[in-house]
Amino acid sequence: MRRKLVVGNWKMNGSLASNASLLSGIVAGYDGSGAEAAVCPPAPYLAQCQQALQGSAVSWGAQDVSRHLSGAFTGEISATMLKDFGCRWVILGHCERRGNHGESNQLVADKTVAALNAGLTPIVCVGESLAQREAGQTDAHCSAQLGAVLDALEPEQLEHIVVAYEPIWAIGTGVTATPEMAQAVHARLRMQLKEKHAQHGAQVRILYGGSMKPDNAAELMAQPDIDGGLIGGASLKAPDFLAIIAAGA
Ligand code: PGA
Repeated sequence: MRRKLVVGNWKMNGSLASNASLLSGIVAGYDGSGAEAAVCPPAPYLAQCQQALQGSAVSWGAQDVSRHLSGAFTGEISATMLKDFGCRWVILGHCERRGNHGESNQLVADKTVAALNAGLTPIVCVGESLAQREAGQTDAHCSAQLGAVLDALEPEQLEHIVVAYEPIWAIGTGVTATPEMAQAVHARLRMQLKEKHAQHGAQVRILYGGSMKPDNAAELMAQPDIDGGLIGGASLKAPDFLAIIAAGA
């Protein structure tokens, strides 16, 4: 009932030239079967993605959005601007935003509301550090992060969000959470979502992110509450990204 979703988070990587070959490789290799597929390039390349992907089965989105609508917010990008470039998705609360830019749970909640109001689907990221995991705080931390977002939403709005569980210690490190470790967190996030709205909570897609690769994607996505992946490094090579999408069939 939940189709798998695989989203490439390009982070601050790429150029017009390298994106062109990556995008054409993805489009050539993806026929719409397997998981649903999307890419999130750096904002300056959204127009390039729109041009390359329009009419294909691959959708696209951004890596962040402002909580403001418009006005004197130098450097910020609004949700309606992202819509102008055909974005369907926006990644919010990635740990690199929370960590490097001091994004609080409240700010992530505000951005989620701004994205939903503009008709974007937010991909809300949660995840614990290694120190938090070792201190037994994984559940409390992830549920506080998700809870702040849920508090800002009407129960019906759950229909329009995606959640990503990304343990910080697994991001870009080559160390992946075991399928069992990830599933345990996903199951608790699922419970929290269902407490907000039983039916929509059961339908929210919860992605796993953190060193997901072609050789571990199938096993992770076979878990009952792992509904796809948020892919960093492996989304920058078309064959790897396509293999992960195929693993979500
Ligand atoms: P990674 O990044 O796949 O390179 O670990 C995932 C992410 O940060 O979204």
